[in-house]
Parts: sequence; structure tokens; C-alpha cells
Amino acid sequence: MDFDALFNKQLDQLKDDGNYRYFAELERDCGKFPKAANHGTDGVRDVTVWCSNDYLGMGQHPKVIAAMCEAVARTGTGAGGTRNISGTNHDHLLLEAELADLHGKEAALLFTSGYVSNWAALSTLGSRLENCVILSDAGNHASMIEGIRHSRAQKVIWNHNDVADLEAKLAALPANVPKIVAFESVYSMDGDIAPIRQIVEVAEKYGAMTYLDEVHAVGMYGPRGGGVAEQEGLMDRITLIEGTLGKAFGVVGGYITGSAALCDFIRSFASGFIFTTALPPAVAAAARTSIAHLKESDAERMGQRSQVARLRAALDRQGIPHMENDSHIVPVLIKDPVKTRMLADYLMAEWDIYVQPINYPTVPKGTERLRFTPSPLHTDADIDYLVSALATLWKQCAIAHAVA
Ligand SMILES: *Cc1c(COP(=O)(O)O)cnc(C)c1O
Repeated sequence: MDFDALFNKQLDQLKDDGNYRYFAELERDCGKFPKAANHGTDGVRDVTVWCSNDYLGMGQHPKVIAAMCEAVARTGTGAGGTRNISGTNHDHLLLEAELADLHGKEAALLFTSGYVSNWAALSTLGSRLENCVILSDAGNHASMIEGIRHSRAQKVIWNHNDVADLEAKLAALPANVPKIVAFESVYSMDGDIAPIRQIVEVAEKYGAMTYLDEVHAVGMYGPRGGGVAEQEGLMDRITLIEGTLGKAFGVVGGYITGSAALCDFIRSFASGFIFTTALPPAVAAAARTSIAHLKESDAERMGQRSQVARLRAALDRQGIPHMENDSHIVPVLIKDPVKTRMLADYLMAEWDIYVQPINYPTVPKGTERLRFTPSPLHTDADIDYLVSALATLWKQCAIAHAVA
């Protein structure tokens, strides 16, 4: 059988639809964020990255780098095993204590990524709690969807950010079955923020536990970077808060926080926690330093907020429509996969601006977009340059100026 022919048939279909994924080959340049070298077909050129999830540039923060180097020198490279078999290092426990403190919880549990933390925690909860029903926001991330699917628990999808729909669906379930309301705080593609307080109130009314993914909020919201739930004073009312160390904290890894019993339960039963090598201690040390820094320092959050506002105002002046939201994510809808890619290609080729086109299945078809994530390290000049490039392309490509 010609397997490559089978593979290529589906790949060709993706290309025809404009949904084939091309990766930019970047070489991050430490100390120069958001600049990076792009290894393109026409050689290596410096570009400005406008779509990084290293939202605050912490991946190149001198304190974080120093912590990782110090830990490598002290402990070596890898953890040496799974957490169960010789892999639990002192640095992991220090980081878990730092995370529990960040979210005001009794305990925390580390995973190798945020994806794995959602997948492992939800699949364990859904499969181990008898008759459990998981009520999942329609906009939830793939990692939550896959975790719920794998759990084989009954799944009820409620309309995105629609508390009335959530309540109707909770009310329709038997009172005595365990229920989990799973949702995010900042949704990464539209940048909209969940009505956490109302969701918590409804969940409490029906005795459901709350599972909140704060991946796109930790480090950036709340006085100590505890996320939107911290900002809203709601952390103690959320049963489980999940986050990543790979985005605003600038390293890699994922985690959950909650009661000691909850974390011990996941630790004891989650295959995705048990059967994989622990994160390198140096990664844990770097992440802890980044978290500790952002607990104390507001400068990065303030800088990000002002550059986000500046970009939005500059886009408005040029009549370039962008989605309104209360977050740091600035989506510009193009609504066509081929045009979105074309714009991104022009920006890279002609302007040395890198923004990844966001196409299906990351977003629904017809809502293809460019998604800009200004950081405190994007200068005013970077913003002016980006917006003048977009304004020029808008004219050339005759994209409607109407509000998306
Ligand atoms: C990126 C992301 C994750 C996964 O986190 P990683 O640490 O990148 O694996 C989980 N949830 C949401 C909403 C995300 O956007």
C-alpha cells in the first residue's frame, strides 16, 4: 500500500483549502525580544514577532535565565526519571509551593505542559468520579476537549460564555451526580473574558465543581499575576485552577492547583502525570523565578497594557477593524484563509513583520484572522511601523474597512 499517497491526498486537500500550516523558522535572539532571526527561503533576516505567547518577554528575563543556568550547573540537565521513580527533585516541590501560593490554594501539581495538565486532570476526574458529567464551554481549548473525550464521562456543551445556558443545562441534570463546569478565563483567539463570577455562582447553586483554565491570564492579570480569578477576588471559589509555565512565565510546563486532596487524587491516578519523565529541575527553577518576579513586579503588566491600548488606538486611526475585548489579545479578522495567509506572507516578505495567520481548525471557518499580542517590549516605533504596514496592505488588498 502506498501510504505516502494517502498522506499526500489529505495534505493536498489542506493546501487547496488554504489551511495548510507553514511554520516560520525563527531563531530567538536573547535580549532582543520581540526581534528574532527568521530563516527564510531568501536567507536569514531579523523580524519583529507580533504573535508570541511569551507575552511579557519573561523567556529572556535576566533573572529567569540566571535561575535556569544556576540550576543546570547545580543539578544537570534532566530530572532523571518520572516523578514516581527518582524524578521528583527539590526544585519541583519549591515550584509547586510557589504555584499553590500564587493561586491561594493548598496544593499544586506540575505537568510537562499545559496541554498535558488539562488532558490528564480532566480525563482523570471524568473517569474516576462515578456518573460524573462535565459541562464544557463551547469555546474550550483542544486540550480540555481531548481530556473530556478520553474520560468517557457524559459531556454537555454550553454556549460560549452563556451563563443562562449553563444554568439551564445544570438544572436539567440529576441533583446527586458529580458535575464539573470547565471553562477558561481569557479565550485566546477572540481575547474575550469569561463572566467568572456568574459562572461560579451558578456552579455553587448546583453543587458543581469549577475547573478554570487561566493559561492566557497567569502572570498578566491580578495584582500578583494570579490571573483573572485573582483580579476578580474569586480564586478561593474556584475548585481547580489550571495554568501554563510556557506563556507569560516564559518557560515550559503546566500545572493544576486546588485542595490537597484534589491534587493528591490527580497525582495518584493520572496516567499523564505518572508515566512521563518529570520536567528538568532547571525548568522548574526558571519558572519559579519568573512567577516570583511577577508576583512582586507590576511593571511588565503595566507596560503590556499600555502597548495594547496604543496598538488598538493606532489601528482605529487607520480604520483597521479589530475585535473589541478586555484582554491583551488583538485579533484582526480577515475572514478568508487564503487572504489571511497572503497578508501574513506580505508582512514577512516586505516588512519583516511576523504574525502567524490563524486558520481553521484553530478558529471556525470564515473567522480567519491575524492575532497580535503586544508585549511591554514592543516599542512605540514597532507599533507605528506595524500599523503603517497594515494600512498600506489594506489599501493594496482592498480589504473592507467595515467593522468586523
Ligand atoms: C496553550 C494552551 C494550553 C496548553 O498549554 P501549553 O503549556 O502550551 O501546553 C491550554 N489551554 C489553553 C487555553 C491554551 O491556549
